[in-house]
Amino acid sequence: MESTNTCIIINEQEQYHLYQQYQHESCLCHRAALINMEIDRRLLLESQENNNDNNSNLSLNYTAGNSRPNPNLARGANLRKAGDSIKEAIEARKYAQEIARNNPKNPVTAIANACWENDPKIMRGDSLTALAPFVYEKYGPVLSMLTFANTHCVDTSEGIVMIDCGTKFQAPRISKAAKDVLKKKLHTAIYTHGHIDHIGVNFMPEFKDDNYRVVAHENVVGRFDRYIKTNGYNTIINQRQFQLPKESYQFQNEFRYPDLTYSDYLRFDVGEETFELFHGKGETNDATIIWMPKHRYCFVGDFFIWNAPNAGNPQKVQRFPEEWAEAAAKVLSLNPKIVFAGHGPPIIGEERVQEAFSNQKKLLDEICQHALNGMNAGKSLGEIMRTTPINKSLISKPYLQPKYDDPRWFVATLWRRYAGWYTFDVRHLLPVDASDVGTELAKLVGSAEKLAKHAEKIMTEGGDEKLGIALEIAEYAAAAAGASTETHLIRSKILRAMEKRETTLMASSIYRAAAQDSEAKL
Ligand SMILES: [Zn+2]
Ligand SMILES: [Zn+2]
Repeated sequence: MESTNTCIIINEQEQYHLYQQYQHESCLCHRAALINMEIDRRLLLESQENNNDNNSNLSLNYTAGNSRPNPNLARGANLRKAGDSIKEAIEARKYAQEIARNNPKNPVTAIANACWENDPKIMRGDSLTALAPFVYEKYGPVLSMLTFANTHCVDTSEGIVMIDCGTKFQAPRISKAAKDVLKKKLHTAIYTHGHIDHIGVNFMPEFKDDNYRVVAHENVVGRFDRYIKTNGYNTIINQRQFQLPKESYQFQNEFRYPDLTYSDYLRFDVGEETFELFHGKGETNDATIIWMPKHRYCFVGDFFIWNAPNAGNPQKVQRFPEEWAEAAAKVLSLNPKIVFAGHGPPIIGEERVQEAFSNQKKLLDEICQHALNGMNAGKSLGEIMRTTPINKSLISKPYLQPKYDDPRWFVATLWRRYAGWYTFDVRHLLPVDASDVGTELAKLVGSAEKLAKHAEKIMTEGGDEKLGIALEIAEYAAAAAGASTETHLIRSKILRAMEKRETTLMASSIYRAAAQDSEAKL
């Protein structure tokens, strides 16, 4: 096939280099990015073993790949822990590549169709990584590059307008592909928001001498300032969430600030193309929806990521599920022909766009309403979360499955926004030390080990549904003074079961990190 629409262009050495860097990257979706690299590495190994490079026309042409890849690549301790999800993601990614190979003229559209049809072969594992095969396709003047965090390059007579720029580690290959295909200078870069998987423009060798400007919402400035101010916190939570090495990992603290910012609305022309920028809030407070009226193309950044909305993230700053629903309404009212997503393929055709954003809005609206009703009725945060209505027909849609964030947390984020931090659980008003409570409970039953064993019994007999109760008791047992390794062993077993039970990356990784704390004591 012609390779014009695909562009996996890194060679083995570059890949090794990138891989090493990824281990220390401070990406919001870091684990997914790591897995991405691991998939690249394994596919490289496989293609060499099968020696089938000739029929692999997907430009999976790791051109320096005559020698075997460095076996050290396989030693990513972080990746070993990702376990089965890598296998699943590899299979899904291979399938995405197969689709691209079979549809050389429109690989992105073909992948978009498979996703829309909820093809189980592609919607397995962590969809963020599976849907990042680094292929591209042109839609009118838009070169849409399907990578981990997508980049869209609009071809104008005055140069390229780039919408989102990938992570700093993706940036070199994105810029190379953009330059190779469009052969133009970079005129403007627009950030759909300030998350670091979208802002790598200053790491693009092909464009570094171009006198480009960066356009973004005004709150991007405050975000970068905050990242610098809370570098320690961000280092710790990302270290835990993505299993990063304690010794060497540090959250990013250098950013390319925007040159031009706006508050609510901005319109400008570059060459013959018009860009309208609308501010919205959802995953972040600094988001921009970009509209190209002539083409009816809409670029929504992370308002759409082929997942349930990332609107409740427990370790991050305030999210905005209500405004997210308003942003969805805005997209609906524009009636786009194509919506280009922040992660995953575009949604193609008015009908699909209307369906996807109506359903997304419905999911958000239902849960926000439930949260406010509960608060206004004087219920506790715990009770409101436990009774969150999750509309099964919505979360079974391929674009609303909770694989990253958990819709029950939309409630918690609204509570934080509208209520105080007091959750109506009186134990948490002036918290006591869990080890003191554990010691008393241990006295009651005989020992901390007995307490832990009871927790284990609850897990064994009660299954998935009782894991939360088992954990609560195991927490006290493990915290009790003189807690033995046995209590930590049980605590870790329960946490590992919870890690497995949860469908979202965020919940699983928090349980996993806690399990590892206990495992380190064994
Ligand atoms: Zn984001
Ligand atoms: Zn993103």
